[in-house]
Amino acid sequence: MTDKYRPETLAVRTGQERSQFGEHAEALYLTSSFVFDSAAQAAARFAGTEEGMVYARFSNPTVNVMQERLAALEGAEGCIATASGMSAVLATVMALLKAGDHVVASRSLFGATQQLFGNIFSRFGIETTFVSGTRPDSFGAAMKSNTKLVFIETPSNPLTEVFDIAALAQVARGGGALLAVDNCFCTPALQRPLALGADIVIHSATKYLDGQGRVLGGAVCGAKTIADEVFKFLRTAGPTLSPFNAWVILKGMETLNIRMQAQSSAALDLARRLEAYPKVERVYYPGLPSHPQHELAMRQQRSGGAIVSFEVKGGRAEAWRVVDNCRLLSITANLGDTKTTITHPASTTHGRISAEARMESGIGENLLRIAVGLEAVDDIDADLRRGLEGR
Ligand SMILES: *Cc1c(COP(=O)(O)O)cnc(C)c1O
Repeated sequence: MTDKYRPETLAVRTGQERSQFGEHAEALYLTSSFVFDSAAQAAARFAGTEEGMVYARFSNPTVNVMQERLAALEGAEGCIATASGMSAVLATVMALLKAGDHVVASRSLFGATQQLFGNIFSRFGIETTFVSGTRPDSFGAAMKSNTKLVFIETPSNPLTEVFDIAALAQVARGGGALLAVDNCFCTPALQRPLALGADIVIHSATKYLDGQGRVLGGAVCGAKTIADEVFKFLRTAGPTLSPFNAWVILKGMETLNIRMQAQSSAALDLARRLEAYPKVERVYYPGLPSHPQHELAMRQQRSGGAIVSFEVKGGRAEAWRVVDNCRLLSITANLGDTKTTITHPASTTHGRISAEARMESGIGENLLRIAVGLEAVDDIDADLRRGLEGR
């Protein structure tokens, strides 16, 4: 199926096996265990000499469809679904690394991912060097003889810095390490890191894959050897995806391509409008020619994505005024929803890091992040205008 069809088709069709009833939609199998025909079959299933379902911590038909579909979209040999985006990061490191290994990670990572690498894995003998900026040679300089993993997110949150996946894949490979890319912001609809040389794609399916803010989920995609290791960790440790969440995410994935295209073109429209406001200092959006890495973004992404950040002239008070004047936009730190959200990163998602570290990362008190949804751009713009024009 993967070879024959285009991504839009794969997103709707991949992975479904109909039961005896011939259901048209993907079936939801809410069962924690599976029965065997005989003692011999039970033994063969447990030994792994016969394929088939055993127990939902190992596998479930609904979860399998979601895994197959995401693997097809990412162009991966294997995909393992996890209970959340964070358990995808956890499972990757627990499955592939050991005490004494070293990680090179971008400083511009999701907050919990930073905490996991900086404060938790370090307690188990896995050290991480965080690299500021996007330059591949800075990553190269941080590599050590025991570096096993390079970890990035692109575009980054909230400043939409773009990392050169192909160049970083070379850096990682040159040092005998794997490159993992958190592809949550773009999804395979806009960016396919494996085709650019990355080894592992991490997802928070909670965001655009579901796309309507209903469930938590995650996934790790990559070569079969990588997926097998992640599976071994998950079936033992347990943070697997629930069948119900897999079923909800499958519904979301059917509309992934059209949502990402619509939300991304709305974001470009909004970014252009924001650039024209006298009270806006600067707009961060990879789809704008004013973005310092616009060319790279257009080379490795299909479009700019749905996240737009901007600085308001002034400080926290002026930024909060824009937030507090919103009647339509949801004031929430989440993203990847059909409902547009607005966040003040310095006091929420990035509030726990020191003011100096925030300054160093360029996350000012006047910065706001919009995750553009599916409402009319005119309505989103009107909601922001109230705070930006002081009416
Ligand atoms: C939300 C998010 C995560 C974590 O995902 P959860 O599903 O909340 O565990 C990881 N990476 C990025 C880029 C995210 O936005």
